[in-house]
Amino acid sequence: MRVDALQLEGFRNYEGLYAEFHPGINVIFGENAQGKTNLLEAVGYFSGAKSPRARSDRELISFDRETGSIKAKVWSQEREFLLESRLNRTGRRQMTKNGVKLKNAAELSGILNTVLFSPEDLYLIREGAAVRRRFLDTSISQLRPRYARALSEYHRLYEHKLRILKDWKEKPDLLETLEDFNLRLAQTGAILIHYRAHYIRKLREYAPDIHWRFSGGRERMELSYQTVKEIPDPEASPAELLPCLLAQQARLRAAELEAHACLAGAHKDDFLVTLNGISTKTYGSQGQTRTAALSLKLAEREISFHDSGEYPVLLLDDVLSELDPRRQEFVLNCIQGGQVFITCCEDERLQSLKEGKVFHIQAGKMI
Ligand code: ATP
Ligand code: MG
Repeated sequence: MRVDALQLEGFRNYEGLYAEFHPGINVIFGENAQGKTNLLEAVGYFSGAKSPRARSDRELISFDRETGSIKAKVWSQEREFLLESRLNRTGRRQMTKNGVKLKNAAELSGILNTVLFSPEDLYLIREGAAVRRRFLDTSISQLRPRYARALSEYHRLYEHKLRILKDWKEKPDLLETLEDFNLRLAQTGAILIHYRAHYIRKLREYAPDIHWRFSGGRERMELSYQTVKEIPDPEASPAELLPCLLAQQARLRAAELEAHACLAGAHKDDFLVTLNGISTKTYGSQGQTRTAALSLKLAEREISFHDSGEYPVLLLDDVLSELDPRRQEFVLNCIQGGQVFITCCEDERLQSLKEGKVFHIQAGKMI
């Protein structure tokens, strides 16, 4: 998969832009607030047809315009796709694929997959478990529609159960429905845990090797899935996981009623990363936690490749400045196969770029 060309009009701080990209590495550099991240956002727009940072398409239209547009020439599944999205401040956007109108974004599924690494992701390992769960959830959802459906069902059931636990004292009748929600939560949670366990097993196949090379052969990474205590083998089938989840619910029932909170279930999942046997979250240095986070994202890219036969487009926003020269070199030259976009502020780092194309961005223009 690759984005061969991009044309923007009235998009963020780009009045108009036309760019043709390299099939390998593309470096976008410029000073702060010139439009580097905006360009990366546009490159990734057609994967899922939404921006990872904008809440609505309206945010993407230049302040002084009523409409905007993004056109991309994408190579995928051994053919070319011309994708266009016309953004409108008042109405709905209109999207076309090779000139044919699309009814919804789902029709773009599989054409452009991306793996985005933004500065917040540098804290993937440092932060609380929610961030790592989000990583699992978004990566698995891109590959498995069944997982995405189970996840939104789980969220819905969770909210419902939470309301019961919060209000049961005022409305004791609510407790009659609790068992039903518990059962459905456990059934849906079993699907999530099963997929997460298999995804982590795949991460284990790729991430430690990437991290090993990234650290110049110094750090051995290990990953372990942390889920419900009652589960002996999370890779078991959802049917086998179900009784374990029900057992946990039974154990925590009184505590849940007391605390008015959902304590049992898959929404507390986490995974632990160790380097040379030591917990990275607790003891890792800044550089180690960042590199480990990047290794996980690069592993996500490998998994996607092995699943679909094509590398997703890798979007790296502002990550070079946080790494030492050896690790920078690795990013610039050792990510083999597939197209990569990297934004950065300084140009001296680019001397170590062996092959690719460099774009200098200033105030929404390419110079
Ligand atoms: P940094 O190095 O600080 O990350 P950057 O080059 O990545 O900078 P961008 O995030 O791309 O910068 O933003 C560039 C500018 O685009 C910002 O100053 C922002 O105000 C402007 N901008 C964002 N959205 C719009 C919009 N809808 N219309 C016009 N300008 C916008
Ligand atoms: Mg930026």
